Amino acid sequence: MRCPFLREAHVQSCQASPFRKQIVRSGGAAGERCGTAAWRECSVARELTEEHPSAGTCPFHSESLVQYCSTAPVTKFIPWSDQAFSRCGSESHRFCDLYLALARTPAPAAIPGEPAPATADADGIPVPGWLWFASSHTWLDIASDGVCHIGVDAFLARTLGGIDRVQFVTSKGLERPAAVLTVRDVDITVSFPNPVFITAVNGALRADPARLARDPYGLGWLFEGIVRDRTVVGNGTPKIADGLLRGSAATAWMRREGLRLRALAEAASERISGVRLAADGGLPAPGLIRTLPHEEALRLSHLLLSTSTDEERFS
Ligand code: SF4
Repeated sequence: MRCPFLREAHVQSCQASPFRKQIVRSGGAAGERCGTAAWRECSVARELTEEHPSAGTCPFHSESLVQYCSTAPVTKFIPWSDQAFSRCGSESHRFCDLYLALARTPAPAAIPGEPAPATADADGIPVPGWLWFASSHTWLDIASDGVCHIGVDAFLARTLGGIDRVQFVTSKGLERPAAVLTVRDVDITVSFPNPVFITAVNGALRADPARLARDPYGLGWLFEGIVRDRTVVGNGTPKIADGLLRGSAATAWMRREGLRLRALAEAASERISGVRLAADGGLPAPGLIRTLPHEEALRLSHLLLSTSTDEERFS
């Protein structure tokens, strides 16, 4: 599905004019003169000669089909055949900054044969029902046209708090997507467990890394890719999502992760005398990693993201 904000228009321009100005065709006065015998009255056309001018239409009058974004602050017409709007013409538009500014969250990816999925709440952590979750606290969104996006989940984003720098370890081709997130003086490597054909990374995170924690399921996406292997491995799970969880199973796992984080935070608080890190009965305060001493922050992030098998992690 294409972006609902993408528009098409016929534009007219004058090839004789020193300034290229495109005017949307609307039957207005400028278009009428160029497309009729009245073009001979135009001073610009009169200055130039054309060997076999048409009597009815100005030879310098050109018309083309263009596309433009109706939400952009400045309208920019792009020839219809240009690839610049390839994102707008695919499901990839759901992760465009301008689209998200109006839609606020990516529209749920449709799941064939199921009603529109909702977002569950795992003790304060949102778990969108259409996303696949990996034990490495990364998520996967697969659109109907095979475009996929990967990011870190709201649980990890909350635990890290503000992120100071994002570096992409992988950026193109068939890879297991990985990135290094820097929080204060701690580097944390997050990786998606399955190979993905990466087509783009979210370069906006380099200039504004905080958007990752601010909007982990939208503006904070990390990788864009394409699902080339549509093989299904069991229960209708696409191969790219093998070993990942979705829906109620993902929500239950996220709740268990909350308990695990609390236990890790309490263990850390015992090592740091006099500092209480975990609130009774709930998740530790947001930005836990940022509040810990360097060694404890490294230890906790390693334990949280340690790569035992998915069967062990999800149990
Ligand atoms: S730039 Fe963004 S909002 Fe505008 S048409 Fe393209 S995808 Fe839609």
